[in-house]
Amino acid sequence: MNGKRHFTLIELLIVIAIIAILAGMLLPALNKARLTAHAANCLNNLKQQGNALTLYTDDNNGYLVFAYGTATQMGTIVLLPYLGSSKKFGVDFTDEDPLKFKPYLCSAPYKHKYRGIVSSYGFNNAISTCRIFGYNNYAPQKIQRLRKPSLLMGIADGRLCLPGYTNNFGALGTTADYEGVGEEVRYRHNGKTNVTYMDMHAAPKYLIGDNYLSDLEFFGRNQEPYSVLID
Ligand SMILES: [Zn+2]
Repeated sequence: MNGKRHFTLIELLIVIAIIAILAGMLLPALNKARLTAHAANCLNNLKQQGNALTLYTDDNNGYLVFAYGTATQMGTIVLLPYLGSSKKFGVDFTDEDPLKFKPYLCSAPYKHKYRGIVSSYGFNNAISTCRIFGYNNYAPQKIQRLRKPSLLMGIADGRLCLPGYTNNFGALGTTADYEGVGEEVRYRHNGKTNVTYMDMHAAPKYLIGDNYLSDLEFFGRNQEPYSVLID
């Protein structure tokens, strides 16, 4: 014996096994931390979009953005210049521009990052452009006319596509949906969606009850889907 002691194979295997067990215990905690970080980033994106929307309405005599897409107006994409971009939708904009722009990209993993998507978020279809179900009013609405803005959903986790692609509205409906098709609010943060309300505060919202945001949050008043606006 030269006095040096070496690990036996069995000792080495035991050490490896212990490390593996500890790593296994740590991974779920790390994963949860990652999901929390995604949600916090997303909420910050929505706060920035809320601030941009305030500036936009100030510059546009109180008029809100279109929820419905057109060639020159499309949801929150028109807020690009207010978020620091030199590019404007309908002017010198390319398809990839918004997604390169952090406030338009939710960092949480989700399925709809295919071609045509320009934002991870959508705008409440019931507020601006059309009164949902009727599609009879294609003008953007004035923010001053909204009822209970602190309870009314404005922008939330969803998706916004370019015109010409299926489901290109960029608008949000009430139906909860786990990454299916349509313009539904996406609950992609561990069962929660992030929402910018129309007083421009941002907050997470749990999926509740029958998988719907409440009528109050979507339309501004319970059970009266045409009453978002004060007429
Ligand atoms: Zn998100």
